[in-house]
Amino acid sequence: MPEFDLIDRIRARVLQRDDVVLGIGDDAALLQVPAGRQLVVAMDTLNAGVHFPHATAPADIGWKALAVNLSDLAAMAAEPAWCTLSLSLPGDDPAWVDAFLDGFLALAAQHRVTLVGGDTTRGPLSISVTVHGFVEPGRALRRAAACVDDDIWVSGTLGDAAGALARMSVDASDPVARAAANPHDPAHSGWARLRLRLDRPTPRIATGLALAGIANAAIDISDGLLADLGHVCAASGVGAQVHLDALPASSELRAFFPDARRHALQASGGDDYELCFTAPAAARNAVEQVAIATGVPCARVGRIVTGTHVQVLAGDGASWTPPRTGYVHFGSQ
Ligand code: ADP
Ligand code: MG
Repeated sequence: MPEFDLIDRIRARVLQRDDVVLGIGDDAALLQVPAGRQLVVAMDTLNAGVHFPHATAPADIGWKALAVNLSDLAAMAAEPAWCTLSLSLPGDDPAWVDAFLDGFLALAAQHRVTLVGGDTTRGPLSISVTVHGFVEPGRALRRAAACVDDDIWVSGTLGDAAGALARMSVDASDPVARAAANPHDPAHSGWARLRLRLDRPTPRIATGLALAGIANAAIDISDGLLADLGHVCAASGVGAQVHLDALPASSELRAFFPDARRHALQASGGDDYELCFTAPAAARNAVEQVAIATGVPCARVGRIVTGTHVQVLAGDGASWTPPRTGYVHFGSQ
């Protein structure tokens, strides 16, 4: 199928927004930023075998490609508006593209994000997405604004996606591992729920928006809590103390990893796409209200301190060292 038919196919399915003056079809898109607001831009690439298992369903790849980008906007407290999509595809496969768009556009519709352009090339399977959103000047949440004595908070639960991935890579011939690999297998709905967290992460857009004016600093957790909190500390010139027992875990993760492995998954597993943010102690009530209003629990997991690194304390108060501190692309593990 020629590239242009593919583009027509994509164009036919995108939703309209009044602020898109000119969308897919010309050399570039024309977009109207609302008066008095700043444009917030983020980009993330997903490569097969690196950012998703090779066997991932195309609709899940589509969902995840947009979700990881929206997660970056959530961490900035930005309201999403537009996106562009660069697709590198190994062959002409309209059915694959249709299924990919099912996932991509389902999430786009949830957040009223319009696909306004992109690029389509032949090559190894790789998807790059750019998202654009808006924020009022001064309201964006930055990494560099954490203050000593701030509480450290985390949205949702940690370690679910890494738990699914760990189980899948242990033994593919194991029926439980196979169930984890098949999110639609009703016999293992617990594993399926973990697997969904890997394949279909939920960008915490509403939570991020509600935290503007309450949180000091924020980041989304893509490479593991400790690695990403480390970025906040480095940018802010502070240290952090995290309490291992305070890290939020889903009931599925507790059931499948009752031992110390769970702590490693929660502290340094990747692909959570939850928010980690800091806020003054005086804002505790306000954060609880955000959690209630957005339906996403927020757990207080530690405190910002003077210093330069992230220290983790186990239940007995002893310092705890993770087996590794997150996923390092192209690096040694
Ligand atoms: P050009 O050669 O001028 O870059 P293209 O043929 O690459 O034009 O693209 C034609 C139009 O289709 C452009 O508006 C471009 O943004 C859009 N487009 C191409 N690929 C995609 C895609 N994967 N998703 C969305 N829009 C796309
Ligand atoms: Mg082009």
